[in-house]
Amino acid sequence: MRIVLFDDWRLGLLEDGLVFDVTGALDGREATPLFMQGVAADFDRLAPRLRAAAGRARGRPLGELRLRPPLPHPSKILAAKANYRRHAQEMAARRGGPPAEPDFFLKAPSAVTGPGETVRLPPGDGVTEHEAELAVVMKGPVRGIHADAALDAVLGYTGLIDVSLRSGDGDLSRKKSYDTFAPLGPCLVTADEVPDPHRLGIRLWVNGELRQDGTTADLVLSVPQLVELAASVMTLYPGDIIATGTPEGVGVLRDGDRVAMEIDRIGRLEVMVKQG
Ligand code: MN
Repeated sequence: MRIVLFDDWRLGLLEDGLVFDVTGALDGREATPLFMQGVAADFDRLAPRLRAAAGRARGRPLGELRLRPPLPHPSKILAAKANYRRHAQEMAARRGGPPAEPDFFLKAPSAVTGPGETVRLPPGDGVTEHEAELAVVMKGPVRGIHADAALDAVLGYTGLIDVSLRSGDGDLSRKKSYDTFAPLGPCLVTADEVPDPHRLGIRLWVNGELRQDGTTADLVLSVPQLVELAASVMTLYPGDIIATGTPEGVGVLRDGDRVAMEIDRIGRLEVMVKQG
């Protein structure tokens, strides 16, 4: 199932470029920016209702709708660091010294923005870069899970551009967390449609120029290993996001840029970039 949020928080299923409004299947509760946590928590019960509702709905072309981020306010976003060898090497080459070992950090949930929206560069002459990433969406709640069972706790996948302020000293959580620094989408693809999350091409263009062209086959820590690591530290709640790290080719974003990211089986996420 390919789940989208659109317009003023309608829930839809996306099939062949058409969106089927299934908001009516939500027990009369209105979809809201926070509703997706509830959908994630209750997904196994809701899934047949969503399918049935889609069967009754009239499909509308994607172009007629305003797509929203599929998880507008996750309770947290974890993001893997140095989880592609060649990206760890490109960062090490800049600063000198050995490549970092994989780890994760927290990125503020308030940084989420959606397809077609604008990434706002912080004022000043700081350097801000793009990182194209496959994002895991948790079904949870889960704590202390072994990698062998971790995929059972995954609801699905989406795309996340981990926008990152590079310049200056300071804390990573601030440099990763400016408002609009987490474009998310275009849809949430349930795990049954992604039989192997380690065989997905991931590409990012700036103004049509291909900057990143990787594959999740190159992840250092696999999706189950990342879930195990994260859940060894903290409880993962429904709708929580784990961005899996970025392949090499990260580069600078400038005022007026158009950024597009594509991940196999997930789709294309486009955003604009503006200064200030
Ligand atoms: Mn990243």
